[in-house]
Amino acid sequence: MTNRTKGDNLGAMKDIVEVAVGLPVSKTFHYRIPEKMRSSLQIGMRVLVPFKGRKVTGFALDLLDEIPKELEEKLLEVEALLDEVPLIDSQMLRFCRWVADYYLHPLGEVIKTGLPPGLHLKSEPILSLSQKGRECLTQGSLEPFQEKVFREIEQCRKIALKKILKSFPEEVSKEQLFSWKRKGLLHIDAGMEGKEVKPKFEKIARYEGAEPANPLPTKQLEILNRIKERGEISSSELGKVFKSFTGSLQSLQAKGLITLSGREVCRALSFRSELKPYPKPELTSDQGAVLVKILEGIRSKRYSPFLVHGVTGSGKTEIYLRAIEEIFEQGREAIVLVPEISLAPQLVSRLKDRFGESLALLHSGLGRGERYDQWRKIWKGEVKIAIGARSAIFAPFKKVGIIIVDEEHDPSYKQEEKLKYHARDLAVVRAKQADAVLLLGSATPSLESFYNAESGKFHLLSLPERVEGKHLPQVEVVDMRGQKDLLSERLRQALQKNIENRKQSLLFLNRRGFANFILCPDCGLTFKCPNCSVTLTHHFRTRSLQCHYCDYRIKAPGDCPGCQGHQLQGMGIGTEKLEQEIQALFPGIRVRRMDRDTTSRKRSHQEILEGLESGEIDILVGTQMIVKGHDFPNVTFVGVVSADTSLHFPDFRSSERTFQLLTQVAGRAGRGETSGEVVIQTFNPDHYSILRAKDHDFIGFYQEEIQFRKALEYPPFSRFINFRLTGNSERKTEALAKEMEGIGQSFLKKRYRQGIEILGPSAAPLFKIRGKFRWQMLIKGKSTKLLHHFARELAAQMGVLTRGKGVNLDIDVDPVFIL
Ligand code: ADP
Ligand code: ZN
Repeated sequence: MTNRTKGDNLGAMKDIVEVAVGLPVSKTFHYRIPEKMRSSLQIGMRVLVPFKGRKVTGFALDLLDEIPKELEEKLLEVEALLDEVPLIDSQMLRFCRWVADYYLHPLGEVIKTGLPPGLHLKSEPILSLSQKGRECLTQGSLEPFQEKVFREIEQCRKIALKKILKSFPEEVSKEQLFSWKRKGLLHIDAGMEGKEVKPKFEKIARYEGAEPANPLPTKQLEILNRIKERGEISSSELGKVFKSFTGSLQSLQAKGLITLSGREVCRALSFRSELKPYPKPELTSDQGAVLVKILEGIRSKRYSPFLVHGVTGSGKTEIYLRAIEEIFEQGREAIVLVPEISLAPQLVSRLKDRFGESLALLHSGLGRGERYDQWRKIWKGEVKIAIGARSAIFAPFKKVGIIIVDEEHDPSYKQEEKLKYHARDLAVVRAKQADAVLLLGSATPSLESFYNAESGKFHLLSLPERVEGKHLPQVEVVDMRGQKDLLSERLRQALQKNIENRKQSLLFLNRRGFANFILCPDCGLTFKCPNCSVTLTHHFRTRSLQCHYCDYRIKAPGDCPGCQGHQLQGMGIGTEKLEQEIQALFPGIRVRRMDRDTTSRKRSHQEILEGLESGEIDILVGTQMIVKGHDFPNVTFVGVVSADTSLHFPDFRSSERTFQLLTQVAGRAGRGETSGEVVIQTFNPDHYSILRAKDHDFIGFYQEEIQFRKALEYPPFSRFINFRLTGNSERKTEALAKEMEGIGQSFLKKRYRQGIEILGPSAAPLFKIRGKFRWQMLIKGKSTKLLHHFARELAAQMGVLTRGKGVNLDIDVDPVFIL
């Protein structure tokens, strides 16, 4: 049975509730609780409250007896109570408060981030004509533009203010509409927006054992017999046999022959992972030694953080499974984070094979209803494992015993919009708060995590070898300087040989599309995105030029629009062209491509991975999607077409990212009986990222990279917070950025003599995205506490300064990429 079904509603009988609304406002607000809600309102429930003329969803944070007299006069009342039992408990609230504080983000929005979408009702202004407005319209006493707007409102009877502004952008403004309201021509009321997601109920018909007193109509008799056969039956099952049955069921119930009741059902998941047996192996001695340490941590029931540094194919998954087993012994629960769940069907399948269906999947690819149901299964305690991408760190378990972060180095753990949290960092915090074990696993740990292991914050556990004596692949670096062809002789030969041996190959190129950009050699014209400071990428199949940031697209031109020249050329190549070239080079070979363009459909990732598994694909070409932890024994060759793409990123993590990508993609080779081979093509054959990846030498790479970080005082020796301003006006954005610097500098002079450094402001490396201009200023500090203090002060001032200026302040604490 669940531990949180409708229960004894022990409201506290208090008068006042403190509420965090799910909006970008930094304060919390107080509301009066109406008499009728006092016995049921509890902390952690959702309430609908009036807010700046609207009704919005908020979360009850605290209940109070009284409030300072000066506020009391102004208090508004809670409009409605949206839950019967609290959605968030005190543990989750504590966690969310920490997150809000650390990321300088409104608490209400943090709570909202942790909940499945569709629980957040809010109202919006709805327009309708008043009696007087209608009269004016019939009398024809309105200005022409006003008449147009009024006619539209009249026709719809009620229409959202937003819609009217969208339909008549030239003719009317919000202020104008409100002035008509003041003149009594319009009503503006609050109406609800969107639809709340709710549990799905199914009707169940149960046979009651009585025989009909009078003969029944044929259809009712048939239905009754069907129910009798089974004892009880659900409406969805009845629907498979009978076209319509609702009326008949009601008659049968009225006659006392059956009873009808509702039962909550779980919406079927669109994500299915093929279930493959994953027998429990005898642990290798390395695995055994690692597990012993972890079990000690689990049994201590105290916060125990581990970094499992295990080379690719060293059997980290088995460690995760054994640790979870022990957690279940304790009656506790497990959260498993993966960088991207559509790329982790193997892990899901292994968990299911070992632990059955006691598992919920959380990820954004699921439908709203599906996602809500998965979340509810965790919330009600019906499952013991939650697996998902970064947002699964908010899984509403009550007794988390372990948090596993697989591929902990992966940048996709960082959310880059709204609440810019890093799920790995939050895993540390949540594990600490829950006295749980933390397992960070990777073949290429992040510099931060390895540094934490070195300095004793994490226990380092190593799996230095592949299981069953399999070797790491042989890696060869090919110098591409002076070479004209896309594929070196060496790479072509290796592919050819692998094909002859009937083995599978992966080809990695971290750029999608056909050509990187198009150039007219006659006049030098290139095609730029009008909204972003990047060139458009050529896509062959759709015959289009596309922007990879804002999705702007145009038809690919035949001739140069500048000089009418006929020589337009594609420069640089992407995966689409690579696929074509490979197909041309090896006719008859089955080539597939995996990148964002070929995986937009729901099951497409899985279809490609299954194709690789079943041997239907000979060569898989792809972007970083093919890099992640798949385990395919028949893949024996991996080619890296260009190792340089990520190396030239204007970011201090570009070397680290390159090393990770190369090591991970190389690690896909030779996991089966045959050993693997890797060829890396590069224009920088002497770069340490490439040389260390060639030798599978993480420690060597770490030692080199950490010195560079130390010399420049980059993370982990300092922390960054990025203050980014985005606005439609280039001039205003820049001006505000300069003002921000002024404020920052004056703080430095007055209060922070040491320990804080201001870098910038400067135009962001991607200066313009989606039509918005971006300026940024980095603040750097050695002490997190001091840095946060500074940032909070600056944020408060900037909040005031940017108000009403059409420029947005975005704060990114511990940014992963500073782009
Ligand atoms: P990774 O460390 O890259 O996550 P996996 O967990 O995928 O590695 O393990 C690599 C392969 O080794 C898998 O096919 C797995 O079934 C196998 N394996 C793991 N542990 C053992 C073991 N103790 N004995 C035999 N095979 C094992
Ligand atoms: Zn664009």
